[in-house]
Amino acid sequence: MNRTLHPGHQATSELQGMNLKIWRSLQVAFWLIGFGIFTALIFFPNIGIQAFWNVLIPVAPALFVLSTGFWRNVCPLGTVSLLPRHLGISKSKRLSLKWQGRFHLIGVILLFVIVPVRHIVLDTNGLATALTLALVAVAAFTAGYFFEWKSGWCSGLCPVHPVEKMYGQKVLFTPPNSHCGRCQNCVIPCPDSIPDMNPAKANMRKSHRISSTLLVGGLPGFIWGWFHVPDCNANAHWTDCVLAFGLPYLTLGVSLSLFLSLRKYLHEKHEPLIVSAFAAAAVSFYYWYRIPALVGYGLFPGDGMLVDLRAAFPFWMVLVSQIVVAGFFVWWLVFRDAKAAVWAVRPPFAGRREG
Ligand code: SF4
Repeated sequence: MNRTLHPGHQATSELQGMNLKIWRSLQVAFWLIGFGIFTALIFFPNIGIQAFWNVLIPVAPALFVLSTGFWRNVCPLGTVSLLPRHLGISKSKRLSLKWQGRFHLIGVILLFVIVPVRHIVLDTNGLATALTLALVAVAAFTAGYFFEWKSGWCSGLCPVHPVEKMYGQKVLFTPPNSHCGRCQNCVIPCPDSIPDMNPAKANMRKSHRISSTLLVGGLPGFIWGWFHVPDCNANAHWTDCVLAFGLPYLTLGVSLSLFLSLRKYLHEKHEPLIVSAFAAAAVSFYYWYRIPALVGYGLFPGDGMLVDLRAAFPFWMVLVSQIVVAGFFVWWLVFRDAKAAVWAVRPPFAGRREG
């Protein structure tokens, strides 16, 4: 197999000394926070649900937009996945380009399957959320045990990775890559080290093209539909539970059809703009509905509420914040004249290995 080395933005030496210690400390700190949330989900489910679904998850999309690399350096599941490599027990198998594409497709499918389950059970059940996280952690560790560096999980099966690619087109901040020691060129192209890794450029394999088109075209509609379904709690009608899957998939289809039509009828040179616009729409829809829900003004009172601020803030203030946040992401991803930056500085190459 011909594996081309993609230089990207490359460091001249491995991360070491105080810088490495700081990143390792951050990784341990985020891992402990993650483990603390996991434990709370089991023993103090109300606190765990608030910490995970109503604090950590709502912060994530903005973090992907502003510094995908920071999150990839400290993500607790990423750390779990790369633990076998850091400990020197990973089998470090090379993943063929064909399987890289298939892993990406599986990641996108997992995303679209897991998120609706939030309405069915995860948003309201700490134990179910903890069990899901445990299964995901086992999958991440197994992927890291068998495959080289990030190819199995962080840039492979992880269902969040496709979203990182979609949102992290114009990051603000590029840290060093604090996980990979010497680059083994494990993923081609490496999403951490190549600028502007928007999914429209994923033109290598059929599975990559399908997953990228499905994600970029479908995500805005999927998010819109998801927010128009209530949590399927004890008071819910059974149709609410069917809708948890049905409505997001229906609106995903509408959004995807629009995306495909735009791609078909607009000139090819507009494709990056279409991708940016759909990314901006997805993240803006997310915060448009998530901000009011967090403070008690959601479409379904109580669902996804962190703190009830209705007595303290009138609705117009929430509306202003929705407009400002949505406007910011549209400007950031579509109109801001910024050069694409890498997520993380690539460490020096380890040299070629036989594939
Ligand atoms: S920097 Fe190199 S080793 Fe690390 S994920 Fe990218 S290609 Fe793989």
